[in-house]
Amino acid sequence: MKRFFQNIGYRFSQWMQGRYGTDELSRFMTIAGTVLLVLSFFRKLSFLWFPAMAILILSLFRVYSKNMDKRLAERNWYLGIRSKAASYIMLFKKKWKDRKTHVYFKCPGCGKILRVPRGKGTLKVRCPQCGREIIKKT
Ligand SMILES: [Zn+2]
Repeated sequence: MKRFFQNIGYRFSQWMQGRYGTDELSRFMTIAGTVLLVLSFFRKLSFLWFPAMAILILSLFRVYSKNMDKRLAERNWYLGIRSKAASYIMLFKKKWKDRKTHVYFKCPGCGKILRVPRGKGTLKVRCPQCGREIIKKT
């Protein structure tokens, strides 16, 4: 009996050889699909069953896929979006925390986010990244 289970483990690792396996994107898809599936049990949200199944099946497809390049490209795309979302949330938190003391704005030249003290009248600001001068009411 022990040998039988060892054999199954061996066969499974043989089968997984050369397959992509899990990554951040497949973990996210599994969680998102499971959440949608649970929500779809409510009668009014039953339409979520199909997208939940689609996401879960796609996630399994990625895990067992042998096309490493495509899966890595998808992973990098996902990580890019995730880090953009994280920095957007961080900036939003900072803006909210400083809302009474500072003004945030985007440099029209390079897009860098600049921060100046609030209530100082009209300021002339030089962007530290591109050197452009900006007149800003605070
Ligand atoms: Zn700039």
